Amino acid sequence: MSESDKEKQKIYYPNPELATNARIKSMDTYKEMWKKSVDNPREFWAEEAKMVTFSEPYKEVWTGSTPEDFVGKWFQGGKLNVCYNCVDRWVEKGYGNEKSLVWIGEDDTVKNYTFKALQDEVSKTANALKELGVKKGDRVCLWLPMISELAVTMLACARIGAIHSIVFGGFSASSVKDRIDDSDCTVLVVADEVRRSGKARPMKKNLEGIIETCPSIEHVAVVKVTGGDVWKYEKDVDFTALVEKQSIECPCEPMDSEDVLFILYTSGTTGKPKGVVHTTAGFLVYGMSTNKYVWDYSCLIDLKGVEPKDRDVWYCTADIGWITGHTQIIYSPLALGAITVMYEGVPTWPHKGRFWEICEKYGVTHFYTAPTAIRALMRFGDAEVNKWNLEKLKMLGTVGEVCNWPEWKWYWDVVGKGSGGEKPVGRPIVDSYWQTETGSYMMVNLGAITPMKPGSCTFPYFGINPVLLNEEGEKNTEPMTQSYFAYDMPWPGLMRTVWGDHDRFVQTYLTKFPGHYFTGDYAQIDAEGYYFILGRSDDVIKVSGHRLGSAEVEAAINSHPKVAESAVCPYPHSMKGSTIFAYITLMQGVEKAEELKAEIVAHVRSVAGPTVKPEIIMFSDALPKTRSGKIMRRVLKAIATMADIGDVMTLSNPEVVQHLIDERAKLG
Ligand code: ATP
Ligand code: MG
Repeated sequence: MSESDKEKQKIYYPNPELATNARIKSMDTYKEMWKKSVDNPREFWAEEAKMVTFSEPYKEVWTGSTPEDFVGKWFQGGKLNVCYNCVDRWVEKGYGNEKSLVWIGEDDTVKNYTFKALQDEVSKTANALKELGVKKGDRVCLWLPMISELAVTMLACARIGAIHSIVFGGFSASSVKDRIDDSDCTVLVVADEVRRSGKARPMKKNLEGIIETCPSIEHVAVVKVTGGDVWKYEKDVDFTALVEKQSIECPCEPMDSEDVLFILYTSGTTGKPKGVVHTTAGFLVYGMSTNKYVWDYSCLIDLKGVEPKDRDVWYCTADIGWITGHTQIIYSPLALGAITVMYEGVPTWPHKGRFWEICEKYGVTHFYTAPTAIRALMRFGDAEVNKWNLEKLKMLGTVGEVCNWPEWKWYWDVVGKGSGGEKPVGRPIVDSYWQTETGSYMMVNLGAITPMKPGSCTFPYFGINPVLLNEEGEKNTEPMTQSYFAYDMPWPGLMRTVWGDHDRFVQTYLTKFPGHYFTGDYAQIDAEGYYFILGRSDDVIKVSGHRLGSAEVEAAINSHPKVAESAVCPYPHSMKGSTIFAYITLMQGVEKAEELKAEIVAHVRSVAGPTVKPEIIMFSDALPKTRSGKIMRRVLKAIATMADIGDVMTLSNPEVVQHLIDERAKLG
């Protein structure tokens, strides 16, 4: 075994002082609590729901039946308002002058919202929405960059019971149209322009010729960001001015527990985006519970011995256009009474150490990002990190895809300053596995106490019972067997339906294995019970009857020192059924030589075994990625087989597609 293989297979431990002051202090307690939570989920969730302020108490924790009504209803009969829970109640409890949201502009403008300031701003915005005719249950589309108005407007929707549908600011106007039409939004909130790396980029203007074809839209509410000249449309409203003149009095609408809180379309990695529906009480309880126990930060729910002003500082780098931004920047931290940082810009402007600068300047204690960001930042070298004082950091985390060994190790060493040796100890890396559909974490380490294995999302959260199934739906009990990843009981934060298409919901998630929620992913468990995600089950490559998960093959390819990134897909083969077609991006400066292909193949076979042989290798300078940084394998599969590539609207770099098609044609 090579030195690096040995290191990779070690167990890594969180700094021991974290456990001393943690809400859950030992793995024995975790195991005991987990067992209780799955044996008696109603009791567990009733306890967690005590963190939420209901204006009318709920009658039953859960009503449903398996498999007919798998998700069921949560906290039925209760009335509450999510915005009240995130903002008003902290003001009422005397914390009005304490920090809540810290918004940082790319030019370093800072808005330090206290809970009271947030309450005022949200109330004014809510009144402005009302003036535009928005009522409880109406859908409002927010297509905005990461400006503070995005956070404020989503809370304003929640305040008056309107359903927000947030579309990532980087998407095209036609993807906005599709989403507006799918859920009949009556108001679109948009920015005049976007600030990006010191320049103004058009936003509102891109709607020309498109918004006129959205029949449900009654108003286009324009937020002034740059004051730049925009294309004018008859339904335009100057939203900034409208908000400004509103009163700060706006009551919170009492909502039923099961009323819809928001719709969010999935990233579209595997096909047409689905309008995932999340509801009020369940989403809130689940998000708060997971964040409290996983990150263990001090917050108004539980100050852990510090003064309110000395609370931990939480910084999640996601865009609010993704579920991560919804759950982890806004709703859960605010409802817990935490300090949450929201940053407007990209990690590389005005310099390559922007994230680390923010951590130093704002005293970030908990930093949460995605493997794709770690890989990008890692390329700039250690010096960019070492310039900054990251002493205050207590925990690190990732979400979105497998955090592979090279980036895991870099995160541990360079950002976390973790130790090496037989028993490495350092700042924990929380590897959180979840989906738009699941509301918050499913599989995750409790930062303060769970021993980590690089690349593993470790163990289930409370009330979550993962099962590994074979094609027949039987449980796989053998360790290290690639299996379908499913859950055999519901939890409060699970989506309730696909907007306007309940059949698609049932078909996609609940039909393959009746009585289970099926994630669409492959996973396996090792002898010590650690879970590893192996990629999407529809990305599987069947070579001579062996089912290979794409993530596994890619990890083997990526471990070659000259490889920066790779993506694999199946390619038809007359004897083997299919073989592996690999797209490989090389490290900067490495020449695309034919001999290197043989070297990579030999390396992969030695790492992953003889069945894992990339049959065709194509070097490419970039890979098609979704806006959330995920490789779009269905496009690569189509290019490999020279088939129709379908919809590429949610790609962040559509220009690479043509390049790949040309390169593919050269291969013959
Ligand atoms: P679509 O469902 O439209 O194809 P998507 O699945 O990319 O899009 P998300 O809900 O943002 O949209 O992503 C969830 C998926 O991301 C998971 O199903 C899993 O494949 C992957 N994922 C998320 N977190 C992790 C993690 N910690 N480890 C491994 N994979 C992860
Ligand atoms: Mg998905």
